[in-house]
Amino acid sequence: MKTVIVGAGLGGLLTGAFLAKNGHKVTVLEKSPIIGGRFTNLPYNGFQLSTGALHMIPHGEDGPLAHLLRLLGAKVKIVNSSPKGKILWEGKIRHYREGWKFLTLKEKAKALKLLAEIKANRLPKGEEAEMPADEWIREKIGEGEFIIKFLESFTGWADSVSLTELPAIELAKEIKATLRWGGPGLIKGGCKAIIDELSRIIRENKGEIVTKKEVIEIDAERKVVITKDNEEFSFDVLISNIGIKETVNLIGKDYFDKDFLKTINKIEPSEGIKFNLAIKRDSVIGNTVVFTPELRINGFNEPSALDKSLSKKGYSLIMAHMALKDRNIKKAIKEGWNDLLELFPDGEPILAQVYRGSNPVNRTRAGINVEWPLEGIYVVGDGYRPQGGIEVDGIALGVMKVLEKLKLGTFHEWYL
Ligand code: FAD
Repeated sequence: MKTVIVGAGLGGLLTGAFLAKNGHKVTVLEKSPIIGGRFTNLPYNGFQLSTGALHMIPHGEDGPLAHLLRLLGAKVKIVNSSPKGKILWEGKIRHYREGWKFLTLKEKAKALKLLAEIKANRLPKGEEAEMPADEWIREKIGEGEFIIKFLESFTGWADSVSLTELPAIELAKEIKATLRWGGPGLIKGGCKAIIDELSRIIRENKGEIVTKKEVIEIDAERKVVITKDNEEFSFDVLISNIGIKETVNLIGKDYFDKDFLKTINKIEPSEGIKFNLAIKRDSVIGNTVVFTPELRINGFNEPSALDKSLSKKGYSLIMAHMALKDRNIKKAIKEGWNDLLELFPDGEPILAQVYRGSNPVNRTRAGINVEWPLEGIYVVGDGYRPQGGIEVDGIALGVMKVLEKLKLGTFHEWYL
C-alpha cells in the first residue's frame, strides 16, 4: 500500500510510523527544511526552546500519546509531573489540592458531585452540552471567584482559549480525561526526542521523509499529489497533517458537498503567546505546572527540571503560556513579561513567541469537532482532535481513529 503523508508534524509522523511498521510504503513530504512542525526543539542562545509545545505532554506517561509511542517501541522517556499541578493564588504557589480551601462548603460538595458524575460518564447532553463552559460551571457549582478563575487558567493553558469559548461537553470530557489519565509529564530531550524516534521508526521500516517538498495540489481522482517543484507522488492512501481547511483547499472545494463545506466554516484556530525565561538557579519549581489564575499568563512550567540539557549551564528554563484574547500583541507581550518578572525578579527574558494566523496554537480550537468525510484520504494532527483530547494527546486520539479506519488496531477503550 503506497501512502503519502503531507506534513512532517507530530500527527503525520506518528501516523507514518504506524503505517510504515504495518507494511505501508510511506513517503512523508514536508515543505520546511526541518521536521516536527510545532513540536520540535529550537536551539536559541544556549537553550533548547521549541517551535511550539512546552516540552510537555498533557497526560504524561499514562495518556494516549505515550500509549501509541509504547506500541511503536519508541525509545522516549516521559516523566509525570509531581505534583500534577500547583496554583498561584493570593500571591503564593500552592499544591493543587490546596485549591479546595478556596471553595465554600457548598461549592466543594457540588464540585465533588460533578466530578463523580463525570467519572461515571454522566456527561452534559443536548443543550446543556453546548452551553458555554463558564455558564455551565456557574450553574453546577456556583459563582465563586476561585473556581472560575482557576478553570480559566486551565483552559488558557491546556487549550489556549477562554472558558467561555469552550462548550460544556468539551470541558467535561477534558476533566474526564484528566481523571482517567492524570496530569502532565515532561519529555526528556524535549519535543524533538519524540520526533527523532518517529522518524527513525519510519526510516527503519523503509519509509522516506523528504523535506523542502511543498504539496500544492491533491488530485483525489487520479490519486496523486503534486509538489511546488512539479513532482508527482501517487498514493493508495493519503494522510494530511496540514489541517482540514488547508486539505480541502488542496483537493478543491468542488470535491465536497455543501453541508461539509458549511461545517468547516465554523473551524477557528486558537492563538497564544509563549514566553521563555531564564533564571540563574539550579531549579525553580521542579517538574510540575503552575496555574496562574490571578495573572494575565495562564501558567508556566520548567522543562529543564527534568532535563538540564534543555537549558544553558547554570540556568533553569521557564516556559509560560498566554491565550491570546485581543489583537494588541505588543500590550499582551508586555503584560506577560510583567507577570513573569514580578514573580521572578532574577529572571532574564529570552524570547516571546506569538502563534496566530497560519501558525496558531491549534488549527482547530478545542470544542470544534469536524468529522472528515472521505475514505482513502484522512486528516490527522491538531486539525482533528476528538472531543476531550487535549493538545498532542488529542492528536493521538485522532490518529487512533484513523488507524482504526485503516484496520490497524482497535482503540475503543481510549475514547472519552
Ligand atoms: P504541525 O506541527 O503544524 O505540522 C504540520 C507540518 O506540515 C509542518 O511541519 C508544516 O511545515 C507541514 N506542511 C504544511 N503545509 C504543507 C504542505 N502544503 N506541504 C508539505 N508540508 C506542509 N501541545 C502539547 O501537547 N503540550 C504543550 O505543552 C503544548 N504547548 C503548546 C504551546 C504553543 C505555544 C503552541 C503553538 C502549541 C502547543 N501545543 C502543545 C500544541 C502542539 O504543539 C500542536 O498541537 C502540535 O505540535 C501540532 O502538530 P501537527 O502535527 O498537527 O501540526
